[in-house]
Amino acid sequence: MAEAGPQGGSPFATTSLPGVQHVIAVGAGKGGVGKSTVAVLAAVGLMRRGHKVGLLDADVYGPSLPKLTGTEDLQPDLGPDGRIIPPEFHGIKLISMGHIVSPNDAVVWRGPMAQKYVKEFLDRGQWAPLDYLIVDLPPGTGDIPLTLAQTIPLTGAVVVCTPQDVALLDAVRALRMYQKLGVEPLGIVENMSYYVCPHCGHRDEIFSHGGAHKAAQELGVPFLGSIPLNIALRRHGDMGRPLANFTEVEPSVLATLEEFIGHLAEQVQQQAAQGARLPTLEIT
Ligand code: ADP
Repeated sequence: MAEAGPQGGSPFATTSLPGVQHVIAVGAGKGGVGKSTVAVLAAVGLMRRGHKVGLLDADVYGPSLPKLTGTEDLQPDLGPDGRIIPPEFHGIKLISMGHIVSPNDAVVWRGPMAQKYVKEFLDRGQWAPLDYLIVDLPPGTGDIPLTLAQTIPLTGAVVVCTPQDVALLDAVRALRMYQKLGVEPLGIVENMSYYVCPHCGHRDEIFSHGGAHKAAQELGVPFLGSIPLNIALRRHGDMGRPLANFTEVEPSVLATLEEFIGHLAEQVQQQAAQGARLPTLEIT
């Protein structure tokens, strides 16, 4: 008789994916709010804290991780055992639809096709050993994000939104979708939260500010942090230099990123602790 975690595997694992401790979905109520950027920030931030990290790009509407990570020229390999060997950037394993099909092809996929590929990437990907697998999900609450969220053994989901009311309504819808699917909401992060002029230091709240914090309180989910609208983050994204988001930004921007990563890791640890308090026994 062996002690196992909540869903098998390591007692501290919060997912059933073999050799992977935690699987975190990054979702959004709509496109363009910086969901993929936040997924990359989370992956790099956790890697910088000494964790083994993987990144799965499941955004079939527009897989942008190859561009954001500067890996457009890379492709997954096939191992002798038929496993998919992910290419790596800064030691982070990455599998993206964008490495296999062009984004133009990907957008015409229907749910079952997207689900088939994502399942294949999960089951046949040489991910292990990983502390965190970050999954960039398609935006919205339609059939495809819903099906994919159900396909992946998720520890929980992070919802990215911008501060405007409209974007927030979409974010609330996304959170409710995850809750209905039984996926633990790890929290909300407000992206493009405010803008600080790099020349004079004046702060502007272009899209308003703080709405996500309030929405998180009302929904009873954690607020993970505010990431500013920042030209260096946009530039590094366009140039495919994800590490530079941590090494070549103003200290105040770095502080917001570290705060977000810290809160995220804390939430995952809380999940793991809750699971560990209720161990299941596996009869072998
Ligand atoms: P989504 O995945 O939600 O469609 P992306 O992550 O692809 O959004 O981001 C869309 C664009 O916004 C990209 O050009 C990205 O570099 C930029 N962007 C995202 N977050 C920020 C930010 N905090 N500051 C500046 N630009 C950002």
